[in-house]
Amino acid sequence: MKRVLVTGGAGFLGSHLCEHLLQKGYEVICMDNLITGSAENIAHLRDNPHFSYIKHNVCEHIQISGKLDYVLHFASPASPIDYQKIPIQTLKTGSLGTHNTLGLALAKKAVYTLASTSEVYGDPLVSPQPETYWGNVNPIGLRGCYDEAKRFAEALVMAYHRIHRLDTRIVRIFNTYGPRMRLNDGRVVPNLIGQALAGKPLTVYGDGSQTRSFCYVSDLIGGIYLLMTSGITDPVNIGNPDEYTITEFAEIIRKLTKTASTITFQPLPEDDPKQRCPDISKARKELGWEPKVPLQEGLKKTIAWFSGQNA
Ligand code: UDP
Repeated sequence: MKRVLVTGGAGFLGSHLCEHLLQKGYEVICMDNLITGSAENIAHLRDNPHFSYIKHNVCEHIQISGKLDYVLHFASPASPIDYQKIPIQTLKTGSLGTHNTLGLALAKKAVYTLASTSEVYGDPLVSPQPETYWGNVNPIGLRGCYDEAKRFAEALVMAYHRIHRLDTRIVRIFNTYGPRMRLNDGRVVPNLIGQALAGKPLTVYGDGSQTRSFCYVSDLIGGIYLLMTSGITDPVNIGNPDEYTITEFAEIIRKLTKTASTITFQPLPEDDPKQRCPDISKARKELGWEPKVPLQEGLKKTIAWFSGQNA
């Protein structure tokens, strides 16, 4: 049985990843310090004999007994309001946490996968963004703590790959949504769905002309699994290239929730990227992957889940 460590395993993406790996027949060790993750996300996995949970901060030395075939480093605050609230922890998770998990993977001769992000492209001047684009990041802005932590993490992964010949993967994750997002994590999907369900005005920041493209969580996890089990050591974008303005997105939420809520415009946060859309040619060609769940279908499932949470 293959044995895998998932850091950030109690988070939104991490918990879906743990679940997927268990279904694929792996033994899963989930590590999380529950700063932004939650025990509830993994409650349904706790009785599985092939699942174990370790409460630990990845910035501290990591000790795991026995073999490890894969290490997936998914620990990090990832929503703008989270990482702006705890910027130092975010920088440490991307730097010290990446260093510790890389050292562990090297000692265990495990395949290493870094959860990177479309934020490495910053406020992109090229759209859609291919992996070859170097990005447009403000290092000292409010998003710098996350963007630069992940850019440093990518550089460290490549250094371990080149110097220690560690077998590594880098997945650049674009906006993803689905069940287990935190209602209060501040991102556009939970914010607008929560507001619509509560009959409150939907907050659109700026003039709402900025774009995002949203990937349903099951599509994303499928792509990550293909990458993890591939031999591709260069970064790969995983996301849905179906692009919407935020105002269009708010209208879709209004329609699907049948809410009477109106839209209210609020100031645009600092350095909010004006456009974001993945070029997924590489994932299509080299992994044979592309997203399958249309936005409206994924949103219906997500809305149903949030409705159940509120009930
Ligand atoms: N946004 C919004 N209303 C909200 C929350 C977010 O209009 O209540 C906007 C935000 O300014 C950004 C986009 O939605 O342009 C996506 O924001 P999110 O925080 O989900 O993630 P990002 O892609 O910026 O990391």
